[in-house]
Amino acid sequence: MTVAVAGGGIAGLTFALTCHEIGVDVQVYESVPELKPLGVGINLQPNAVRELFQLGLENDLREVGIEAEEWSLFYYGAHPIWTEPRGTVAGYRWPQFSVHRGHFHMRLLQRVRERLGDDAVVCDARLTQFENHPDHVTASFTRSDGTELKVDAELLIGADGIHSTVRQQMYPDQGDVNWNGAIMWRGVSRGEPPRTNNSFVLIGGNEQRFVCYPVEPLDEQGETLLNWIAELRFDDVEMIDKSDWNRSATADAFMSEFLDWKFDWLDVPGIVDRSEGIWEFPMVDREPVDRWVDGRVALMGDAAHAMFPHGSGGATQGIVDTRVLGACLLEHGETPEALLAYEKELLQAVNELVIRNRGEGPMGVLFDIEDRIAEGKSIEDAIDPEAVADFMARYKEAAGTARDTLNASPPIIEPNRG
Ligand SMILES: Cc1cc2nc3c(=O)[nH]c(=O)nc-3n(C[C@H](O)[C@H](O)[C@H](O)COP(=O)(O)OP(=O)(O)OC[C@H]3O[C@@H](n4cnc5c(N)ncnc54)[C@H](O)[C@@H]3O)c2cc1C
Repeated sequence: MTVAVAGGGIAGLTFALTCHEIGVDVQVYESVPELKPLGVGINLQPNAVRELFQLGLENDLREVGIEAEEWSLFYYGAHPIWTEPRGTVAGYRWPQFSVHRGHFHMRLLQRVRERLGDDAVVCDARLTQFENHPDHVTASFTRSDGTELKVDAELLIGADGIHSTVRQQMYPDQGDVNWNGAIMWRGVSRGEPPRTNNSFVLIGGNEQRFVCYPVEPLDEQGETLLNWIAELRFDDVEMIDKSDWNRSATADAFMSEFLDWKFDWLDVPGIVDRSEGIWEFPMVDREPVDRWVDGRVALMGDAAHAMFPHGSGGATQGIVDTRVLGACLLEHGETPEALLAYEKELLQAVNELVIRNRGEGPMGVLFDIEDRIAEGKSIEDAIDPEAVADFMARYKEAAGTARDTLNASPPIIEPNRG
């Protein structure tokens, strides 16, 4: 028997590579008939990059992505609030990478198929339910032609994303996703990178923001693929669940609010105009839960802890999950005890991160600044550099990405343990 995984996203595929590294048989079942390069930009923090390097994916990251150098926050009108170096520039032993989710995902798929075989990922298999037994778990899948597939496995890992079926069975009353009133419009456009070759820039305040950063190496003309996100907050709008990563939109929905966001180093309307497409996604997460494990079944990635994307934590944490579970499988075998050890190691800290991101993650620093502006202070006087520095340091410690802690921590899986 093998370990079965529902979901061939970033977490599911990284877990498959981890199982291969440690010598555990694994089979991934993915609902869509064919995995395609979907999504736009994501950031992988050094704690996840360390794990991807150990999986032998350093060249892949360098080919599809670009090392992040700095993170810069500007108030409306582009008043600088905070700029900090990132990745190796900031002294981390591992870089931070900005990547196009779809291109990175396709590399993971390619590596899984090369290392584990073409059949390691079964597409067009949607998990519908699971049943725990004393010595195995039965997972039921349906195909688009209506046929059913039943699989007996030692363990089932639910890496099936924010609308996880595994989680829904564990928590039938969990209700809808939690929306914070903001909508993000996202896309990628070719263009010159803002500021340095690879700066992540964020402009705006609590009601309206624009994010832009490159996700590919620069071409010979000095251009790259720029990821952008325009975000607006709405009061009194009832949310119908529109949290589909593939929902396309047009610029009419938001562009009127950004028409004058033209700075000498960033032309927001120009970037949106050149976009290869526009996708709409509400800012949603899920209420943290007390258990990720039910017998021989465990949640992983967004299924376990869908979070607001402030601080680029979603994919990063999903990758870390796979490695912690890998270490637990090595120690306890493919047993329910391994799942409980994984949950014990991560659940509390990750739940705290989900809640902390509701405070806007690193952008939470804007609340104090806007309060001072509301009291009548000028933007310059409202920014207290020491308070900002302190806030940023505390966020990173909580997110597990504090430099000295990470640099000094032992590998999650000792190399050559497989
Ligand atoms: C198409 C797509 C585009 C995305 N684009 C972005 C983006 O641009 N920016 C961003 O920040 N995040 C994006 N995300 C989310 C991001 O990938 C995750 O937050 C993060 O990488 C954690 O990954 P995950 O593997 O836990 O979840 P996901 O990447 O969401 O992967 C979950 C996988 O499970 C599959 N699945 C769902 N239900 C079932 C089922 N019942 N049975 C079997 N398989 C199932 C899905 O098809 C998907 O492939 C996107 C996700 C998807 C699916």
